[in-house]
Amino acid sequence: MNASNEEIRELFNNARHIAIVSHVRPDGDAIGSMLGLANALKEAGKTVTPVLQDIPDEKYAFITGLNDVSQWLPLEADCLVVVDCSDVERTGKVLEGRQPDLVIDHHKTNLKFGRLNLIEDEAEATAMILSKYMSAWGLKINADTANALLTGIVADTLGFRTANAGADCLRVAAELMDKGADLAMVYHKTLLTRTAAEVRYWGQGLTRLNLQDGILWVSLSLDDRVRAGYSKNDDADLINILSSVADALVTIIFVEQEDGRVKISWRSVEGLDVSQLAVQFGGGGHAAAAGADVKGSLPEVMQAVLPATHDLVNKSDLRYR
Ligand code: 5GP
Ligand code: MN
Repeated sequence: MNASNEEIRELFNNARHIAIVSHVRPDGDAIGSMLGLANALKEAGKTVTPVLQDIPDEKYAFITGLNDVSQWLPLEADCLVVVDCSDVERTGKVLEGRQPDLVIDHHKTNLKFGRLNLIEDEAEATAMILSKYMSAWGLKINADTANALLTGIVADTLGFRTANAGADCLRVAAELMDKGADLAMVYHKTLLTRTAAEVRYWGQGLTRLNLQDGILWVSLSLDDRVRAGYSKNDDADLINILSSVADALVTIIFVEQEDGRVKISWRSVEGLDVSQLAVQFGGGGHAAAAGADVKGSLPEVMQAVLPATHDLVNKSDLRYR
């Protein structure tokens, strides 16, 4: 059952030092939701520490509070909030076994691992949930908070173009603009800003583009990272470029990690749900966008994941599209 606005308001009222945690390889919704809520709680007089295991991308420096992000949970925090994470593993190692007091999320695979939970899987972004309810929790949305929340919405809807982005999403975005958010700036920074190293890294992957039976896939190795001079452990958003290929029903990226694991991202067309496939491999996500972090070498993980994805496509009515 979802926590009520009264319960959440009381949780925040009674707290002195609130830690807000989001996921590893943080994206715009993780950072925007975490810092949007952090800004508003600070405005309300609380001590707040935003916590991420991985250092956020510099392109998000326009969001107020990015420099305050800690890589460790403060011992003195008496309230622990997790945003945009469907399971505890998504936070990495920062929670150290502590149960969150509140989990706010929009993933249909969410395991409700908080003492209180607010999960709305029809919401386009966790930032949508926050935008809708923050005033009911007694929190104000100033221009800084509005920019942070709009970043989350723009990031998860790829700029209002995912199939789930409804009229409500545009209305909420418009309200955030009324409160001072700058859509053109947020859009530019979040979706259109790239480094040369990122594009070089894409290039490494694109030399190994595969398309078979409606499945498009690419792998990115640790060597590719070195060759491209790319320092982060994600796919540099290549998945969102690849999923625009017309013949692909499902797009997959395999990203080799330093700890003998592989990060997988799936994207699918409407009508194909890859979230359960991700759960099968220990991950989660949404029907159209899901991911998992799997132990094994690149070839091992690809050998397990590609047939399972083929099965999903073969079982669907979309295979003859
Ligand atoms: P991405 O492929 O961009 O990393 O993630 C796509 C979606 O799947 C996001 O909503 C993200 O939260 C979710 N996701 C990605 N990786 C994992 C994972 O390892 N575990 C879980 N539970 N969800 C994931
Ligand atoms: Mn999200």
